[in-house]
Formats: sequence, C-alpha cells, structure tokens
Amino acid sequence: MHQGADREADRRRRVPRTDAVLADPRLAGMTGRLGRSVVKDAVVRAQERARRGEIEPEDVPEAALAALPRRAATIRPVINMTGVLLHTNLGRAPLSPAAVEATVAAAGPADVEFDLATGARARRGRGALDALAAAVPDAEAVHVVNNNAAALVLVATTLAPGREIVISRGELVEIGDGFRIPDLLVSTGARLREVGTTNRTSLRDYREAVGPETGLVLKVHPSNFRVEGFTGGVEIADLTGLGVPVVADIGSGLLRREPLLPDEPDAASTLRAGADLVTASGDKLLGGPQAGLLLGRRDLVERCRRHPLARALRVDKLTLAALEATLRGPATPLDLALHADPAALLARATEMANALAGAGLDARAVRAGATVGGGGAPGVTLPSAAVSLPERFAVPLRTGDPPVVGRVEGGRLLLDVRAVPSWQDGEVLKAVLAVSA
Ligand SMILES: *Cc1c(COP(=O)(O)O)cnc(C)c1O
Repeated sequence: MHQGADREADRRRRVPRTDAVLADPRLAGMTGRLGRSVVKDAVVRAQERARRGEIEPEDVPEAALAALPRRAATIRPVINMTGVLLHTNLGRAPLSPAAVEATVAAAGPADVEFDLATGARARRGRGALDALAAAVPDAEAVHVVNNNAAALVLVATTLAPGREIVISRGELVEIGDGFRIPDLLVSTGARLREVGTTNRTSLRDYREAVGPETGLVLKVHPSNFRVEGFTGGVEIADLTGLGVPVVADIGSGLLRREPLLPDEPDAASTLRAGADLVTASGDKLLGGPQAGLLLGRRDLVERCRRHPLARALRVDKLTLAALEATLRGPATPLDLALHADPAALLARATEMANALAGAGLDARAVRAGATVGGGGAPGVTLPSAAVSLPERFAVPLRTGDPPVVGRVEGGRLLLDVRAVPSWQDGEVLKAVLAVSA
C-alpha cells in the first residue's frame, strides 16, 4: 500500500514540466505550424496520462507529438467512396490540382484588385470574370457571388424589390437542409406570384400573371427531383415575349451541353433560348469552388453588380483564383469522375479487391451504380464499380486516417471507386489494411 503510494508520488514527480516538454525541438517545431495552444493542449493531455500511469513520464514528449492534429483546422480531407459524385455533406465538387495551386498562390498578398503594370486599383477578380465570359460567349456580361442562393437574392433584390416574381408552382424547390427557394426570394421583400400547378404550367398561366407589378419571371430547374407522368411546363423561349426579364436558375453550373446528362440545362443554351439572366452554382457540375454565377444581359448584370447588397455577397480572392483555374485549367476531378470508363472502374475495383483478398480479407469487386448527387441530374445512374467488404468495416474506415466514406447496402460496405482519382487507390488499400489489422 505504502509502496504503491510512493511509486505513484515518484512517477508524478518524474512527469516533466510543461515548459520543458514544449522546449523539445520536435514540439517547438510544431508550434510554428499548429500554434502554441494546440501543442500545449496535447502536452497537458500527455502529462495527465503519465500521472495516471498510462504512459511512462519520459514518454510524455513522444505521446504529445503522436496526439498532435495534422493541421491547425479541424476540417479533414476524406476519400469519397459513397458513389455520390457531388456529396453535399462532403463539400460538393473537389477542386482540381490546378485550382488548389491557384488558391495557394492567392493566399498571401495577391493582385486581386491591383494592376501591377500601372500600380493602380484594378477590377476585382478580372481574371476569373474574363475566364467565365470567355467560357460563355452568349453572355454579354458576368458576375460572381458567394453561391447560387446569393445570386438569386441579388437578382430578386435588384430586379423585383417590393414587386412580384412570377414562378411556376412546379418550381418551388427545396434546395436542401430545409432551405427553400421561395422562402429565399420572399426574404428579399419580393412577392411571389405562383402560377400553374405542381405538374402543369402553361404559357397562358404566365401571361395572365404578368403585369405592372411584375419584377421578373423566374424559371427554376428542378435539380434534385423529377416529376413524371402528366406534366407540362413552358420553355424559356416561349417566355421571352412577355415584356419582363426572364431569369433562369439552372442550378448545376453546366456552361455547355453535357451529352451524358441530356436533361441538365446549361448556361449557353439557356441564354441562347432567350433567358435574360442565368444563375448557377460553381461547386456542382462546373466542378469548382463554392460560388454563384450570374450571366446574361449587360444592363441587368450591371444593375446587380452595382446594388449595395453586391458588396455583402462578394467572393474572396481564394474563390476567384480557384474559379479561374477551374474555368481555364485541365479537366476537373468531377469531369473525370463523370466520364470515367465503367470497364476501367471495374478493373480498379478488382485489383483492389484482389489485393485485399490476398491479405485474407473478405473482399470482392462488384458492379455498382453511382449518382451525380444533390448537385444535379436526379434519376441518372452512372455504371460504376465498388470494393465490397463486410459491413463492420464502415465505422473504422470512416473514423480512420484518412477517413474513407463508403455506403452500406445489403449488409455489405461498398467502396465505390468512381469519385476517387486512381492515384488514391493505394491510399484506400492502406486504409483498409490498417483497420483490418
Ligand atoms: C443547388 C441549387 C441552388 C442553390 O445553390 P447554392 O450554390 O448551393 O447556393 C439553387 N437553385 C438550384 C436549382 C439548385 O440546384
């Protein structure tokens, strides 16, 4: 008894002081990367473990080092094997390496609003705006805000303050997480003039609703659901003769037609059909950073850009850099995932499953169906392939490092490879082997 107490007192005495541990060059080096408070917290926790006898006092620096987070921010990169290419909860579109590099380059002082040749102030984000204009020649002018919701708010505030927005009842969309486009529009002080029914709206419905109170007619693409059967809507081209601006929220941010997704509207075709303004997201099918795109008639874009609210919705330099690199740069990860060859996907899944089976795991390759996700193309299934594992792998993989997120189906964990660039296959294998050990 006495001896035990002595040993404990001795151990507590041997626990090194916080300052002494923080002076360890390895930990001191991490202070510069992670900040002193993060490192100190890890040291204090290691000291507590030593006092409780879980580790030896001389191992405190080592334990503190091991417990350090990898980055100063808690947000962590994950490997998306859900089979949902644009997973809202996993940050939607992954940035291309070119966009990541542009973001890093813009992180310090950057000429976002400065002309280096003249030394004078310059148009903010001109590189990104020029790239967007070049990508959609049908747009007379373009503007970029925080996201598509912000684009809609800016358009409604600018073009329909205290006035009516004419919109079909079939297009009163809930975007997700309880946010609804009609609520968003009404929050600007505009009034909704709903026309038609859930499944059918005719040109006559629009014509009867448009009048002196109308600020604009809004067409919203039903990007996350489909109405089938006895349905009918009105094409943009038919709405252009009503004498009021026609605004089209196309959702996904496709700039040109995508043959794989024939039902997804794109900015160029929508403008050519006669829309006065198009709004879209940057981080859905465009495959870029979160942003809201506004494209169309110069006078309308200019009014939006000059509205006081525009300042509250403006994007930062990191977004502008990533957006420009997305528009000018190589194919985006989303593009590559969308166009991946199903046979190549199955070959990758087979190779991974064989490697895991060779290590004694119950792993096999299976065909699977991937989807574009909340970002667009509801009802479209893309043939894909997955590594099938026992369901019990789901939690350890999700909470591992790096976290691998799959989906559970029929008692098996499916790791769908379509959203994963092939260079990450090795990382996935390592992660699975690590949790199976
Ligand atoms: C996703 C979506 C929005 C919202 O876009 P954010 O960029 O997330 O703000 C609005 N309208 C439609 C049709 C959408 O699909």
